[in-house]
Amino acid sequence: MRDVTALLASLPTGLWIDGQQAKASEGATFPVHDPATGEVLLEVADATAGDGARALDAAAACQREWAATPTRVRAEILRRAWELVIERRDDFALLMTLEMGKPLAESDGEVTYGAEFLRWFSEEAVRVHGRFTPSPSGNGRILVTKQPVGPTLAITPWNFPLAMGTRKIAPALAAGCTMLVKPAPETPLTMLLLGQVFADAGLPPGVLSILPTSRAAQLTDPMFADPRLRKVTFTGSTAVGKILLAQAATHVLRTSMELGGNAPFVVFADANLDDAVDGAMAAKMRNIGEACTAANRFHVDNAVRQEFTAKLTARMRALKIGPGHLDGVQVGPLINERQRNTVSELVFDAVAKGAVVTTGGASQPGPGYFFEPTLLTDVPADARILREEVFGPVAAITGFDGEAEGIAAANDTEFGLAAYIYTTDLNRALRVGESLESGMVGINRGIISDVAAPFGGIKQSGLGREAGTEGIEEYLETKYLALP
Ligand code: ADP
Repeated sequence: MRDVTALLASLPTGLWIDGQQAKASEGATFPVHDPATGEVLLEVADATAGDGARALDAAAACQREWAATPTRVRAEILRRAWELVIERRDDFALLMTLEMGKPLAESDGEVTYGAEFLRWFSEEAVRVHGRFTPSPSGNGRILVTKQPVGPTLAITPWNFPLAMGTRKIAPALAAGCTMLVKPAPETPLTMLLLGQVFADAGLPPGVLSILPTSRAAQLTDPMFADPRLRKVTFTGSTAVGKILLAQAATHVLRTSMELGGNAPFVVFADANLDDAVDGAMAAKMRNIGEACTAANRFHVDNAVRQEFTAKLTARMRALKIGPGHLDGVQVGPLINERQRNTVSELVFDAVAKGAVVTTGGASQPGPGYFFEPTLLTDVPADARILREEVFGPVAAITGFDGEAEGIAAANDTEFGLAAYIYTTDLNRALRVGESLESGMVGINRGIISDVAAPFGGIKQSGLGREAGTEGIEEYLETKYLALP
């Protein structure tokens, strides 16, 4: 494994503005912590509103030239960036484990997944099409073209430090947009290393700025007030998404919003239970449960509920907890004390209302923010855990009788990002899949994210789609030229 001290010493810790590493204008820095120990890993530059203005100046100054850069040239830069991330795989993986806490094998998986957006959108860059049609009236012709939206602000969360960045940066650059990235303050190091990759890949100065800050609103509020900004793309909580949507109204910005989830995992009586338990482990435990697609509520037909609960309990009890860089560890720490308290409160609330703990149930003593893999069954309908996003290694099981009740229970939420169903009946799979109010449905699968598929939610889970052929559209305007 890469030596931690050597890796940290090699990292860029300044802002990326105009293709250069820069100090924050007030010289301030903020600490980045290792959630497995609570210790400081590094200090990074703390961007101010002035730094944001400089970055937006640079983005606006080169927007026209970047949009006019041949798509093949933009594609080759993205392709080179993909190669460089893969070459530096071990550094990226260890860094994500250090600043976010996930097990090293999962960080390695994120390198593959996160880098893939760079390759995918390098390929999509040269396949942006318009159309030409004669007007049905016979009076004239219709030419439809696509143009980049313009300078875009990306605000990213801490749970997938690489992929949540590349899923926005790659389509934006492919489409010809310039971009300012504000990474989450918990995990800025991965994004700063990605800035180095883009510099090495030959991205022209100004096209991409990376601005870590401990004072998000102070940095981004003035950007929303600046008419040169044309779009905001955000992944994070629904509460913050609503604030940003209101701000985006000032200059009627294009918006892409990937917000909170509350994914149901529905097991029908005809499911293959071993497959369902495998899927449940993936849907629940990947990323320590800290994923917006994570299964939040397990609705299990009462005919198979006991058997499913027993099998899942055994699997969750066998998981190894510890610092993510250690061999064999499957469950790392939560991101911080606040997150661990939230998870604790949700478990406490459910148990107080009558839920039964079959394994786990408590925080682990420090250092670090560990919480035991926990299974709750007989969870009553009024438990908060069925309504709120857990973002932790806790599964809550509740029973239902028959298909209609299962669908109704799954849809009983204001969120609509992901849903999972397990059944061996193809007709039921299609019927239920079409009835679920969510942007994505996993059918006999516990992991659904795919670079080639449209990722996104309905209801209060968001607006727009990332990845797939849809992902680049979020960064393009449609223009109609009326021809004689
Ligand atoms: P979490 O609670 O999981 O950190 P948030 O939605 O609070 O999720 O944060 C997601 C991202 O949004 C982070 O980069 C955070 O710094 C940023 N953020 C939070 N509040 C604001 C705000 N008022 N303006 C701009 N960015 C914000």
